[in-house]
Amino acid sequence: MSQEPQSYRGESTRAVHSGEERSKFARSLTNPIAQTATFVFDNLDEFTDFKAGKVKHFEYGRYGNPTVRVAERKLAALEGGEEALLFPTGMSAVTSVLLAMLRQGQHVVFMEDCYRRTVQFCKIIQKFGVESTAVPPGDWAALEAAVRPSTRILFAESPTNPHLHVVDLERLVPFAREHRLKVLIDSTFATPYNQRPLEYGVDLVIHSATKYLGGHNDLMAGSVCGGGAIIAGIKDFRNVVGTMADPQSSYLLIRGLKTLALRMERQNTTALHMAQYLEQHPKVERVYYPGLPSHPDHEIARRQMRGFGGVVSFDVAGDLERTRNFIHALRLPYLAPSLGGVESLVSHPATISYYDLSAEDRQAIGIKDQLVRYSVGIEDEEELLEDLEQALAQV
Ligand SMILES: *Cc1c(COP(=O)(O)O)cnc(C)c1O
Repeated sequence: MSQEPQSYRGESTRAVHSGEERSKFARSLTNPIAQTATFVFDNLDEFTDFKAGKVKHFEYGRYGNPTVRVAERKLAALEGGEEALLFPTGMSAVTSVLLAMLRQGQHVVFMEDCYRRTVQFCKIIQKFGVESTAVPPGDWAALEAAVRPSTRILFAESPTNPHLHVVDLERLVPFAREHRLKVLIDSTFATPYNQRPLEYGVDLVIHSATKYLGGHNDLMAGSVCGGGAIIAGIKDFRNVVGTMADPQSSYLLIRGLKTLALRMERQNTTALHMAQYLEQHPKVERVYYPGLPSHPDHEIARRQMRGFGGVVSFDVAGDLERTRNFIHALRLPYLAPSLGGVESLVSHPATISYYDLSAEDRQAIGIKDQLVRYSVGIEDEEELLEDLEQALAQV
């Protein structure tokens, strides 16, 4: 009955079973939620044995929890990494990892089109004496020029938000090795179903588990996955700063992860069809989707990804007014700032994510007024396309 996680071969088998004990508390089938702040010892000898590594035991909620642990083991199995850690949000994963790894006088290179809050954090850490340089995606000359003797980390996202640029990992990892840099990839938009950065030699993979990993728009979490030694250092740091995930969200994540492959297959297919449909539509000026041959990174994505993900970005032909009308005419997707869940969501980056930038500053980073980001849910493709059709007919 009991099996070692290594013997779970397929993507979905691993998603359902890995990280879990076959025999759980009170023989319950699903994983119990250990809703506790601390853990009990019989006597001081047991505590001493625990500290000496002779017995397995949890100690205090900030250092570890059995429900969180199952979610972490499952994530590590899906990503193909030795160890994983779970955090309360994607941003707490990003910030904890960077703070744990960097010290005063060091330097980070990140891609200009990283998640906006990550970019902001790279500026915030200046107050701790950590410098950073942003480089445009795919600009190898700029990347080469940005690296300094003090550079320690290369941080990239793949695919990026909202233009879905894909970083060429076969080229990035050797570049980083040559310059003795650690490579961190925020792989939120891809999920381990579509892309496995660790197989290319990337050091750490970060996710906002709020998105596809949770998959149901009902939890917030973040994760980092990689080799045992580097993760152990980050865990020591997490023990101190306290960015520990909670058991309720971990349970929801365990539950959500079980259907990851099913959801991703569906979302990959629907998004590709939606991108193809939009690309031939006269009222759409341009579509950004790595699964389309027209995308600048299509060839890289084809080599590196199993599917191209569930987000499609596009420019509506016309101006801001027409784009607003189009978004307001959509009936199925909710208008909300997230992605990756079972419910389709639509976003207008110029209004929602970049509302505080001037029109000129938005233009400079390619966020046009006509840009729409559509996160495809698991609704039936036919209805999603019909809804797009009727909304485009109204502009
Ligand atoms: C949402 C997101 C984050 C931040 O995650 P939260 O869970 O919202 O804190 C980081 N990176 C990417 C690519 C994201 O989409």
